[in-house]
Amino acid sequence: MSEICTKCGLPKELCVCETIAKESQKIIVKLVKKKFNKISTVVEGIDEREINLRELAKKLKSQFACGGTAKEGRIELQGDHKQKVKDILVQTGFAPETIEVQ
Ligand SMILES: [Zn+2]
Repeated sequence: MSEICTKCGLPKELCVCETIAKESQKIIVKLVKKKFNKISTVVEGIDEREINLRELAKKLKSQFACGGTAKEGRIELQGDHKQKVKDILVQTGFAPETIEVQ
């Protein structure tokens, strides 16, 4: 028995909901300064109803071997990964034109 998508009712391996969603996001990547002058990379604008934010955060964290959090459509990664985040997101299936690096 395979998992069924709650949105389209198809088995997960046939479902393209997340693929479509990934092409229609408006993602912003930027750096923010945290306490004690620490830098974090913020990825925001991800629609949590359509994208598995936790999975994505997990992937980014393992790619950069850094800590981070994911909540309310926003992923925060410790350190400056601004230049590489876009590549990883594109590899994951997001369309390059949906990602704006500030
Ligand atoms: Zn689906």
